[in-house]
Amino acid sequence: MPDARPLGDLSPELLGSSVWPDRAVLEAGIPVYDVPLVSVGGGLGSFTLVDALRIQGAPASSLRVLSNLDTPWQTWAYLSRVSQLPPRERIRSDAGARPDNIWGFPSYALHEAWRDRSPRLLFQVLTEPVLTDFFSPRAETVFATLEREAARISYAAMLAKGQVRMVRRRAGDGYFTILTPPAGATPTKRIAIRSRFVHLAVGYPGLRFLPDLQEFRETHNDYHRVVNAYEPHEHVYEFLKSRPGVVVVRGAGIVASRVLHRLMDDRERYGSQTQIVHMFRTFVSGAHGPGPWMRRRGGDGWAYQAFTLPKSAFGGQLKARIRRADGAGRAELMKVIGGTTTPRLRPWQAQMRAGREGGWYHPVQAVVDRVEPTPDGRLASLTSSDDGTRARHVSDFVIDCTGLEAGVPEHRVLADLLEHGGARRNGAGRLMVGENFAVTGTENGDGVLYASGAATAGNHFPAVDSFLGLQTAALDIAADLAGRGFCARLGPLRSTGQWLRWASGRPV
Ligand SMILES: Cc1cc2nc3c(=O)[nH]c(=O)nc-3n(C[C@H](O)[C@H](O)[C@H](O)COP(=O)(O)OP(=O)(O)OC[C@H]3O[C@@H](n4cnc5c(N)ncnc54)[C@H](O)[C@@H]3O)c2cc1C
Repeated sequence: MPDARPLGDLSPELLGSSVWPDRAVLEAGIPVYDVPLVSVGGGLGSFTLVDALRIQGAPASSLRVLSNLDTPWQTWAYLSRVSQLPPRERIRSDAGARPDNIWGFPSYALHEAWRDRSPRLLFQVLTEPVLTDFFSPRAETVFATLEREAARISYAAMLAKGQVRMVRRRAGDGYFTILTPPAGATPTKRIAIRSRFVHLAVGYPGLRFLPDLQEFRETHNDYHRVVNAYEPHEHVYEFLKSRPGVVVVRGAGIVASRVLHRLMDDRERYGSQTQIVHMFRTFVSGAHGPGPWMRRRGGDGWAYQAFTLPKSAFGGQLKARIRRADGAGRAELMKVIGGTTTPRLRPWQAQMRAGREGGWYHPVQAVVDRVEPTPDGRLASLTSSDDGTRARHVSDFVIDCTGLEAGVPEHRVLADLLEHGGARRNGAGRLMVGENFAVTGTENGDGVLYASGAATAGNHFPAVDSFLGLQTAALDIAADLAGRGFCARLGPLRSTGQWLRWASGRPV
């Protein structure tokens, strides 16, 4: 029978074997390109790694970023925008978390104070969090500084567009990474990149829906009234601007805060008559956690914390404690410091207070058993509460603010790595990595496969899915690669010289 595969596609031999000899790839007609290191993903995880490597002397020609994105901030910008954080708004990380600047100096607070000629920002960063809220940069500041750094390190020259299908071990050493370039970009369906080092930073595999909401959407084919905060849902706000309505908001994290903020802003700005029913699965009514040092503020349903984790988990004593702890100890500590939180920002507090007093914001403790359509085309959420009360809340919309999917098997490349690449999952179900962020079990000869970002949660470092965490991973990986002779070490002389280059905008 003639071979019906498109030109240069994966052969049954390649699909079925975990270790590929060069011969098998060539026989499948897949063109092979040699690059010493590839980073798969092309988001901020890839960007922070190639930034560190360029600063440590790796030439752009030794690095390739394989991605379906045009810019490293694209996914972050998209998810932020749809989840109600427009570019002018302030994000949720501190002044020193600069993905464009490994030194964190000058901080974003100094940067914005200088740019906007605003001593108020300096006062804020000097007195936070006692007299003022923590300083956070505007999203647009992060985009602009990333754009400048991308140009400085020749990011565009390192980018190869396409969808990565898999990474497999090469017979002998190193890896083959299979990329499907955009249709028509190459004569063959796939190309292979043969490299000694691979880095995976593929972010979140997709959206996560609460099971009852997913069931409703599928059963009633209704993707209009039940929405996830991470998908475009501007129509909800437009509807509520045009007529009075009821919206159920589910979730208690930063995204729920932002969605509420938007609904409340629209009430103030456009006179919307929206009634908001806010459902908390766990209703926090006060400070909680083992005292006196690990207590967290809480109230009105929320657990309050400025950043996704306490600051010392990013680079202080909690980071060190978690690194030293064994598996069970880590899990125990993460239970205390993790969980869903939101910053206690003064403007949001004032809005929620006004809503409670005005009778249009209704925070409730409730677990939703089922969502069903009402005869007049609305939604009924049937709930039960911890005190045994059952209720029925009728609304025009439900906004699910509970999260993104980070399950490793949900991502095709990671699933393939578990099946064929020797990767293992840790107690949190994510990829097990060592302290150098090498994925345990995937080494091949002198080749190393690293990973960073959400897929590596639950290991020695808790803050992996944050700007600072991605940068920490990037610096640890770069240090490991320097030890293997791939790039220079970042000693005091190189660091000072490179900072001066960074400050004056000169290429690395
Ligand atoms: C809404 C939101 C706000 C956040 N705000 C902050 C904040 O204020 N401060 C902070 O420190 N952190 C924040 N984070 C957390 C974190 O810093 C960001 O999510 C960051 O963008 C993660 O970077 P990443 O590279 O791991 O993932 P991403 O930015 O998602 O990049 C990975 C990309 O890889 C690509 N990809 C995946 N699979 C393949 C494949 N097979 N082939 C080719 N390409 C592929 C996809 O396009 C994917 O988007 C936020 C996260 C979210 C979701």
